[in-house]
Parts: sequence; structure tokens; C-alpha cells
Amino acid sequence: MAALHFQTIAELSARLERRELSAVELMQALIARTQAVEPRVHAFNSRDEADALAQAAASDARRAAGQARGPLDGIPIGLKDVIAVRDQPLTASSQMLQNFVSPYDATVTRRLKDAGAVLWGRLSCDEFAMGSSNENSAFGPVANPWDLARVPGGSSGGSAAALAAGEAIATLGSDTGGSIRQPAALCGLVGLKPTYGLVSRYGLVAYASSLDQIGPFGRTTEDVALVLRAIAGHDPLDSTSFKAEVPDYRTALAGPAPRRLGLPKEYFGAGLDPEIGAAVEAAVKFYRDRGCEVKEVSLPHTRYCLDAYYVIATAEASSNLARFDGVRYGHRSKAATDAIDLYAKSRAEGFGAEVKRRIILGTYVLSSGYYDAYYLRAQKVRTLIRRDFLQAFQEVDALLTPTSPVPAFKRGEKADPLAMYLLDVYTIGVNLAGLPAASVPCGFTRAGLPVGLQLIGQPFKEADLLTLAHTYEQAHDWSRKTPNL
Ligand code: GLN
Repeated sequence: MAALHFQTIAELSARLERRELSAVELMQALIARTQAVEPRVHAFNSRDEADALAQAAASDARRAAGQARGPLDGIPIGLKDVIAVRDQPLTASSQMLQNFVSPYDATVTRRLKDAGAVLWGRLSCDEFAMGSSNENSAFGPVANPWDLARVPGGSSGGSAAALAAGEAIATLGSDTGGSIRQPAALCGLVGLKPTYGLVSRYGLVAYASSLDQIGPFGRTTEDVALVLRAIAGHDPLDSTSFKAEVPDYRTALAGPAPRRLGLPKEYFGAGLDPEIGAAVEAAVKFYRDRGCEVKEVSLPHTRYCLDAYYVIATAEASSNLARFDGVRYGHRSKAATDAIDLYAKSRAEGFGAEVKRRIILGTYVLSSGYYDAYYLRAQKVRTLIRRDFLQAFQEVDALLTPTSPVPAFKRGEKADPLAMYLLDVYTIGVNLAGLPAASVPCGFTRAGLPVGLQLIGQPFKEADLLTLAHTYEQAHDWSRKTPNL
């Protein structure tokens, strides 16, 4: 049996249920594990051991009183440091929020607390979730547990690395253009970006509001199903949250999986690492052998995804980040002479280079004279991209693609911002179209680096998507391999 810190929610909750293990013992084991590996991994921005142990003790007390709240009760879950937890630091990995303590809980936080989960740590990410390698954190990079010289992916790199390293049992990330799926792929985990509107964004530090979604990382699709069930569903505090019924995703895993699968030909072209291509092909063969009908489809506007994304995301970011002005909260410059100087110096000192680059780009594409040429044009292209997907879904139930064109790369290897943006080619269309998509482990490269398979589904069909992933997972044990740390 795997060490305690590498077990799944499903396994641990069964042991808690049988009283073979207490939540406090589990939390103690995770604290010990974290102390042992964290100096090499750097996945946490902050953690509060005493608070986590108190939450675990409360879980044990509930269980003793016959009031356990379900499969997440007593399970330690880490949150990306862009999700508000009352009375805990919330930094978005930025100097701007270095000393900020959240006065309230995000809706997902509240729902996890209601489910009895032990909230464990605020996990590192790229500053304000902008990046694909976690190298943009103001507090230093995160290491990939499979090879400490390499990046864990981003922007939710801390959420992926902590889980892969056995420092948490599940984690939450946020995905604006791939930030859950890409790090899941690079760290050998299951990651799900839900349909836009399924999970409330209330209490999520906003990057690009029309693209952002919170979602789970797990060791298995079953674990992802359990966490999704707890956090999904309508929230009156988020006006974009949808009134969709939330099924029991775990029970759904036993049902039939979708059978008509599409391979978008634009996702298998030049730039794809051959070892990743081969691993994905093998997964496709698995589904074919299982009797699925697999056919090639086309998403003709794929080549415009990156351009549309980096216009829309930066435009929304420039607007969202205007609130950090040194007056209301966040970093305030000590060197300012008047109000305008205070805004300028606070922002100049508080934001890192990538965030500034995006604010400047976003302000430019929204400025009068350029709005029609860039922002409005990008919104029209976005509609075409969404139409491509909906068209493909007339013929197939789900799409299979690689998650990332490359496996985990070395820190410092992609110094040019454009080279970094290009890594998002396979994940970004999904956000522009508002669709659900998962990354599941589908093998390793010869160098021992994990490879991810992306499954893209129809709006609000997360149950189908997870069932499809589960079918594959049952026949392969990629997701149960663990790094040597
Ligand atoms: N890498 C993309 C970006 O930098 C996506 C980030 C994300 O999903 N938060 O914008």
C-alpha cells in the first residue's frame, strides 16, 4: 500500500470511516511529510499547522459524535494562493498582496469547510495566475517533484507540485488558459477545468473574469469527482454562476462513457513533442480497442486562439488589476509625494515584470482607437472558436488531444515571454469556448517525465468527461506512480 501521504481521498476516507485512522493522525503525517520535502519543492506560500490540526481535531469530534459530513471530512486539501480563506494570508504570489490577510472565505472555501475538509496551506502560483511555469511568483519558483531542476508548470504550479510530492491529498487551482490542466500534465496528476459558470468565482483573485474557473487536482478521476461535487453549483454571490444541477460525479463514474470521440487535426501538428504524440496515440488506440468510434475533426480557427486569448485576457486583467492602487489595500509606496505618484509608485513597486507587461498590453488594446481593431475583433474571433467546438460536438461527444506540447522543461529554459505563451496552444481554446476539459496522466517520457492526455467535453457534461477519463485510468496505473523524493 502507498505511504499515507500518497493515498487517495477515496482510500483515506474509507479508513477514516472504519476508524483505522484519525484525521489528526493523517494531518500529522502530512505535516511531517511537508517538513521533509518542502525545502526542495517550495510549493507553499504559507501554511498554518496549528490551524490544520485544530480542523482535523474538529473532524474527529464530528465523526465520534456520528456527524461526519461525507467523503471529504478530515481530508487535507490545499488551495492555490488566489482563493480566499478567512483570516489567512492571500498573496496571489505578488509583492502587491504580500501582507494581505483575507477577511472572508471564497465560496469554494466555504463549501469545502462545510464538507468537513481540512484546509491546508496556500499554494504558490505565477503572480496573479499569469504564466505557465510558476517562475513568475514573487516568492521564488516551485520545483517539479519528478525532477527538481524542472518547472511544475503553471500557473497553478504549487497546487500540482504539493499534490505530486505528497504534501496534500487533493488541491484546488484556477484555470484561465490552462493553469490546472498543464501543471497536472507536467506533474502526472488528474486536473479538471470545469465548464465556465459551474464553480463560483466569488473570493477568487480575478485575472480574466470571462475565462477564470476554479477546479480540482487529484490523484485519480474519482478524487476529482469527489472534490468537484463539493465545490460546484449555483452561487448567488457570483452573477456568472450557472443554475445547473450538480450530479453525484462519483456515482456517475460507474455508468457508460461517451463513445464518439474526435481528434482535432489542428492539435497534432508541428511543435508537438514526438514522445507526447506517441503516448496520446496509445491512449487513442485504447479507446478504439474498447469499441469507441474515433474520427478526425477540424477546429479551423485554432490558429487564432493564442492571439484572441492574449488580447482578451490582458484586457480583462488590466481592468481587474486597476483596483491595486495603494489606497484601499495591498502594497502602498512609502516614497510617494501626491496621490497620482502614490498610485504609480505603489504599482511600480508591487507588480512584477510579467504582470506589468500584461497590464500595459491590456490597456493598449482597450484604448480608444484600438478597441475596435483589437479587443472587439478578438471577441468576434472568440465566437468563431466556440462555434468550431460546438460544430465538432454535433458529430462527437468528446475530443482527445495532448494537454501540453512539451513535457516539464528546465527552470530558466524559456526566457522569452512569447515562447512561454506558445505552450498554451492546446489548452486555451477550451477557456475561450467556456468548455470543461480534464488532463489525465497517459505515460512517461524516456527521461521519466509525466505526459498528460486532454479530454474536452460539452458544456456541463463533466460527468461524461470524468467517466471517459476513468475508463482509461482503470486500465492504466500511471496516476498511481509517485516521484522519489
Ligand atoms: N499560461 C496562461 C497565461 O499565462 C494561462 C494562465 C492561467 O490559466 N491562469 O495566461
